[in-house]
Amino acid sequence: VLRMESVRKTFGGSVVLRDIGLEVAPHTVTALIGASGSGKSTLLRCVNLLEEIDDGAIWLDGEEITDPRADQDAVRRRIGVVFQAYNLFPHMSVLENITLAPRRVHGVSRAEAEERARELLERLGLGGRADAYPDRLSGGQQQRVAIVRALAVRPRLLLLDEITAALDPELVGEVLEVVRGLKDDGMTMVLATHEMGFARDVADQVCFLDGGVVLERGTAEQVFGDPRQERTRRFLRRIV
Ligand code: ATP
Ligand code: MG
Repeated sequence: VLRMESVRKTFGGSVVLRDIGLEVAPHTVTALIGASGSGKSTLLRCVNLLEEIDDGAIWLDGEEITDPRADQDAVRRRIGVVFQAYNLFPHMSVLENITLAPRRVHGVSRAEAEERARELLERLGLGGRADAYPDRLSGGQQQRVAIVRALAVRPRLLLLDEITAALDPELVGEVLEVVRGLKDDGMTMVLATHEMGFARDVADQVCFLDGGVVLERGTAEQVFGDPRQERTRRFLRRIV
């Protein structure tokens, strides 16, 4: 689904990502782990074309999306994104939040968009909340609505950046449960997370970023169970 080759990203002279190579197979989950500032969010933003890369290339379904001739809007329509802060529109109901993009950007009819939204809400345990406003929902519920909103446009790829970081500990579980469910449904996902237990549990592939480099990449079992690099070992010892 996704391939990155020799991706390099700088911000005003400082290199934030260097020589990033990554391959994400269909229906798999890739977890990006690493210390704060190691480049996880920047990597996700490059995939979504929110940041322009300085060197290298990124392919989505075989199309080079970093080619200057690529249709950036069309690319973004195929990628769902959920960030740490849920960013729901406060003046819109849950249903309006979810159906906005399908109707405005994808030209789906209101009836069809609402049907899909209600179906997803039901599946994520939010069946009764379609008409609520975001400030009436818990953080965990808001984050689940944000996930529904990302799914509403039927993305090929879902990018999740620290989606539990802003949540109270007791609300983290319900959001992670949703991600687990999406994995079971075959959704392809790349997620940045500090939840190591979750990464170990859900990820097919784990990438440890260190100073903008993928220092280690392997199955969850390999990276967590038997890290090859001393720095990975030190990071995991500090976290777990
Ligand atoms: P965290 O775990 O805290 O979310 P991260 O791994 O997501 O960290 P990034 O946010 O990708 O890290 O940041 C990587 C580096 O890039 C940091 O040194 C950061 O200061 C720098 N950086 C990120 N965005 C910008 C920007 N817009 N301008 C300048 N520097 C930036
Ligand atoms: Mg980040």
